[in-house]
Amino acid sequence: MGGPNANWNRSRDEKLGEKSLSKLEPSGVPLKEDDIEKQKVLTVTYHPNTKYAWATGVAVGEFLKGLKAGVITGSKCDECGRIVVPPRLFCEWCFRRTENWVKLPDTGSVNTFSVSYITADTTRVKEPLIPAVIEIDGTSGAGFLHFIGGVKPDQLKIGMRVKASWVDASKRQGSITDIKHFAPSER
Ligand SMILES: [Zn+2]
Repeated sequence: MGGPNANWNRSRDEKLGEKSLSKLEPSGVPLKEDDIEKQKVLTVTYHPNTKYAWATGVAVGEFLKGLKAGVITGSKCDECGRIVVPPRLFCEWCFRRTENWVKLPDTGSVNTFSVSYITADTTRVKEPLIPAVIEIDGTSGAGFLHFIGGVKPDQLKIGMRVKASWVDASKRQGSITDIKHFAPSER
């Protein structure tokens, strides 16, 4: 390679020499877990007090407000008439703004589900969690993600009718967990 840096590079490599290049390993003594646990080295324990707050946005705000009141809220597109849940501010089919909030029933059918013997933090559990995509009645093409409860995994079926099981009104916080789970129901 030519250019203004060619000589500089060559002289640097000559100084290092091939032998020293192959020995460019970090020097010093590596730390072991034991060194930290037994405090053989100086350690600092720090519990950061990190709290975050952020705006939910218009559509999700409407959805969470509804949950607190025990209602599942969707949005309807005035162009194609499609209702989706959770609500959103636009219809991606028509590229139109949608601010037509609709109250939906808290019933639907199981679109798909999974039986999981580990929790989100990878802890093993004996009673499996059953996350599912639920098609809320009156909506189309918008799956609602939640847990199924009150049913044995081998009794689960795609298309099974389910109904929301709500947290007591006084304890609702305007969160998706205001619905405990969806449980099998008769139509
Ligand atoms: Zn539309």
